[in-house]
Amino acid sequence: MENIEKSFDVIIVGAGTGGTSAARFTAKKGLNVCLIDRKQRGDIGDKICGDAVGNEIFDFLKINHPKNEELSCHIKGAKLYSPNLKKCIILLDPKQAGYIVNRLEFGQRLLNEALDAGVKQFLDKTLALDLLYKNGTVNGLHVKLENGEKINLNAKIVIDASGFYSPLRKNVRSSLIEKKISKNDSILCYREIVKFSPIDQQVDDPEYITIILDQEKAPGGYIWYFPKNETSINIGIGTFMDYRGKVKDLYKTNVFQEFIKTSKAEILSTGGGVVPVRRPLWSCADNGFMLVGDAACQVNPLHGGGIDPSMRAGFHAANSAVHAIENNDNSINELWDYNYNIMTSFGAEFASLDLLRIVLQNLSNEELNFGLERDLLKGEEILEISSTGGLNLSLINMAVKAVKGISQPKLLLDLNYLRIKMNEIAKLYKKFAKNLDQFSNWKENVIAIYDNIERMIVNTKKK
Ligand SMILES: Cc1cc2nc3c(=O)[nH]c(=O)nc-3n(C[C@H](O)[C@H](O)[C@H](O)COP(=O)(O)OP(=O)(O)OC[C@H]3O[C@@H](n4cnc5c(N)ncnc54)[C@H](O)[C@@H]3O)c2cc1C
Repeated sequence: MENIEKSFDVIIVGAGTGGTSAARFTAKKGLNVCLIDRKQRGDIGDKICGDAVGNEIFDFLKINHPKNEELSCHIKGAKLYSPNLKKCIILLDPKQAGYIVNRLEFGQRLLNEALDAGVKQFLDKTLALDLLYKNGTVNGLHVKLENGEKINLNAKIVIDASGFYSPLRKNVRSSLIEKKISKNDSILCYREIVKFSPIDQQVDDPEYITIILDQEKAPGGYIWYFPKNETSINIGIGTFMDYRGKVKDLYKTNVFQEFIKTSKAEILSTGGGVVPVRRPLWSCADNGFMLVGDAACQVNPLHGGGIDPSMRAGFHAANSAVHAIENNDNSINELWDYNYNIMTSFGAEFASLDLLRIVLQNLSNEELNFGLERDLLKGEEILEISSTGGLNLSLINMAVKAVKGISQPKLLLDLNYLRIKMNEIAKLYKKFAKNLDQFSNWKENVIAIYDNIERMIVNTKKK
C-alpha cells in the first residue's frame, strides 16, 4: 500500500452514523480528511439496531430523509406501556415521528454522501490501534492496514467515532475524558427481525414503535416491538449488563414466545449489542481529540436512541474542527465549544433523562404500574422537562397528583423530587461551563444532583 497518504487535517475513526456525519461536514468545508473503518466498505452501516430514527435530524443537517430501499416504514409516534399493559402513554411529539430504516442501505448512503463531499482518503478494513501524541496533544493515529502492515497517520485533529468499545478512549491520556464506562450505565440488548405472512399474523400498531417497561421480564431495560413493514418486525430486549449470557433466553421466553403467535415465522436477522445509557462523557474533547456518538456516550438514556445524537455530534465536531484549523489551534481551549454545543443541546436533555432512567431502574413493577397509571409522572411532563429544562406544575396539577398518589406517598414524594432534580440538571447543562476554568465548579454541581438522587434511592430501599 505505497500510495497511501499519511498527513491530514482530520482523521475520523469509524464510518457509522457519527463518523460519516463528521466526515461529510469537515470535507464539505474543504479540510483534508481521512476516514477509516475496520469493516469492509460493503458492510458499513450493517449494525444490530432497532432501526428507528426521528425526522428532525435530517432537517437539522439539511440532508435527504430516508427513502427508497433505505426506508422500511414511516412512524407516527411511540407508545410506552406499563408492565401490566394497562397504561399506554402515547408520545406524539415531532421527535418520536420518523422512520424505521434498513440499516445497511441507510449506512451505505451516509458513507457515499460523506465520500462525495470530498473525503480525501477512505481506508476500509483498517483498524485504529492507538492515538499518537506530541507534547500532550493528539497528533495522529497508529493503524493496522488491510495487508497487516502497521503505520502511523498524522493529523491535527483525530475524531473518534468508533462506537461503544472505542479502543482509543480506553488509552486516552486525559484527565478530562473517562476511559471506562460503568456497567451500571450500559444496557445489554438482543434483537431479531422476524417475518411472517399476514395470513398467519398481523403486525400490531404498524405506525408506532412500542416500548414495554417490565422489571421482571426485561430487568433494568425494556422490551421493544418496532414495525418494519406489513410483514416483518424488529423485536428485542434490553437488560442490565449482569444478564450477559442470559439475555437471549430472556428474549426467547419473554419476547419471542409472547409476541410471535405463528409457528411459520421466519427469522431474518439476529444479534446483540451494548448501548451506553448515561449523560455524555464529562468532556467529549481534549487537546487534538474529539469523541462522537456511542464512543462519547451520546445516546438517549431513556430509549437508547443514538443515531440522531451521533449525527448531530458529528456535525458539531466538524464545525469545531474547522474553526480550530482556521485558527491554527487544536488545543482543548479551542475545541471546548464542541463540549459547549453538546452539553447545552441534547446533553441537557440526556442528563435529565439519565436521572429518570436511574430512578425507573430502581422501581418495582408494582410501583411502575401505580406511577404510570395514576399519571404521577406523565409522558408530556417527561418530554417537556427534558427538552426545555423546565416544568412548572400548577398547584391544581400538584393537588391532583397528591390525591392520586395518596396510597403510595413515598413514591409520590420521590417522583416529585425527581421532577425537581430533572429540572435542575437540565438548567445546569444549559448553563454549561463556557471555558475550561469554569468546568470543575460546574461538574461539582452536577455530581451533587446525582448524589441527591442516589441518596433518595438508598433511603427508599431502606424503608
Ligand atoms: C440492539 C440495539 C438497538 C438499537 N436501536 C436503536 C434505535 O432503534 N434507534 C437509534 O437511534 N439507536 C439505536 N441504537 C443505538 C445506535 O445503534 C447507536 O447509538 C449508533 O449507531 C451510534 O453510532 P456511532 O457512529 O457512534 O457508532 P457505530 O454505529 O457503532 O459505528 C462505529 C464504527 O466504528 C467502526 N470501528 C469500531 N472500532 C474500530 C477500530 N478500532 N478501527 C476502525 N474502525 C472501528 C465500526 O466498524 C463501525 O462502523 C441501538 C443499539 C443497539 C445495540
